[in-house]
Amino acid sequence: MHNDSTLTAEKSWKTVVNQLRMQLDKQTHTTLMGKTDFSRYEDGTFYISVQNSFTRDWLEQRMTETVVRMLSGVMGSAQKVQFILPSQSDSQTVEEELPVVEPLEKPTPQVKIQRSELDSFSLNPKYTFENFIVGPSNNLAHAACKAVAAMPGSSYNPLFVYSGVGLGKTHLLHAIGNEIVREKGLNVLYVTSEIFTNDFIDSIQRHENTAFREKYRTADVLLIDDIQFIIGKESTQEEFFHTFNTLYQMDKQIVISSDRPPKSMSTLDERMRSRFEWGLQVDIQAPDLETRIAILKSKAVKLKLSLTQEIQEIVARQVSCNIRELEGALNRLAAMSNLCQLPIDRNLVVMALGDILQQPSANSISDVIQGVAEAFELNLDEVLSRSRNKNILLCRQTAMHLLRSEEDLTLLQIGDYLGGWDHSTVLHACEKVDQLLKQNPSFFSKYSQIRQQIYGTCALA
Ligand code: ADP
Ligand code: MG
Repeated sequence: MHNDSTLTAEKSWKTVVNQLRMQLDKQTHTTLMGKTDFSRYEDGTFYISVQNSFTRDWLEQRMTETVVRMLSGVMGSAQKVQFILPSQSDSQTVEEELPVVEPLEKPTPQVKIQRSELDSFSLNPKYTFENFIVGPSNNLAHAACKAVAAMPGSSYNPLFVYSGVGLGKTHLLHAIGNEIVREKGLNVLYVTSEIFTNDFIDSIQRHENTAFREKYRTADVLLIDDIQFIIGKESTQEEFFHTFNTLYQMDKQIVISSDRPPKSMSTLDERMRSRFEWGLQVDIQAPDLETRIAILKSKAVKLKLSLTQEIQEIVARQVSCNIRELEGALNRLAAMSNLCQLPIDRNLVVMALGDILQQPSANSISDVIQGVAEAFELNLDEVLSRSRNKNILLCRQTAMHLLRSEEDLTLLQIGDYLGGWDHSTVLHACEKVDQLLKQNPSFFSKYSQIRQQIYGTCALA
């Protein structure tokens, strides 16, 4: 079965794996590269079999380019590589080898259900108030949702929650639903606006408009997620408008989530917009570092992972704008730790999250300088100039200090980024700022604010 080119290819693969031993750290090499197998060579493509999909994804994302370059070098012509799983017949063992990590988000069941089960069929029991971590970024939204859950229909109606993605809207909507079902046994209907749309279209096609209305207009509490998707769908919007009015007139609670406030929904029907604005609008901001660490801790407990404070901080610092991504990072760590049977330490973090731990690009460094300039109400040119004007000087020194403490740069690199200063100037600037931070509380708070703004939180999407 083996022909010459297969033999050459197999040898080339071994050579490359050996060469990589020198480039990768030992752990990565033995656990990932070392366990690959040459499977076959076809039409200039190496098919390399790997143990499981986790390893496959990891190698695909991080190693493809390097491996292709090396293989092409060894073979003397352009090559391609595909990491593949062992054949289907082996799938049983493949499953077993996969790291067991409980998914944090369950898909909504898509089963046909009886009317009586309708109440809470689509509520995810994992999303509760108890496991929602409250911080300055979301305490208003949390409090409003709690109030609505305690007295549906009478506190804020409608409640309109908006934020960028992954910041907890869906979690809060489910939490309201779960609490109301548990405490009051009311008929809670949670739908995404897509489900609403599909139901509506279905009902038209099947001429079952009564059933549709019965479903939506008899709810005690309607939780409608991601309303932005009905914008522009005119007849759905119209139907929602009537649903809304019917429920509202009966004092039934309506909670709406969206990725933006009603006033930014440019093509939303004006009547609809004004109704959204009748009740209370609350937003969720990106969480600050402390909240992110608290969330990470609580998710780690659920995954039965122990994370040192240092690791919590490294991970929380890297993912700042999206809690779903924070969870994703934690899941990857868990999977990697499980797969390699290694403790979660710095090395593992680099291995698992290498791509998000990458050095900042020049672009993000100029963003940092820009951010500091804005805080001092200066423009970039002024900061990068040779001016020794007091405010400009302090701004430049602050930027130097921030880059020194947050980025892995040399004094000389920092001097370059700020318009060509030598390393002793940068050093002096850092000492000066250190001193100010100790002695001048108002500078300290300004500096903390700048740092928070640049590194701690992100603007709404
Ligand atoms: P959105 O609907 O705003 O896109 P989600 O509600 O789906 O965001 O949240 C994304 C993930 O982050 C979910 O798994 C959710 O449980 C989690 N999450 C968000 N905010 C918090 C929080 N404050 N505490 C705990 N988990 C949170
Ligand atoms: Mg959501």
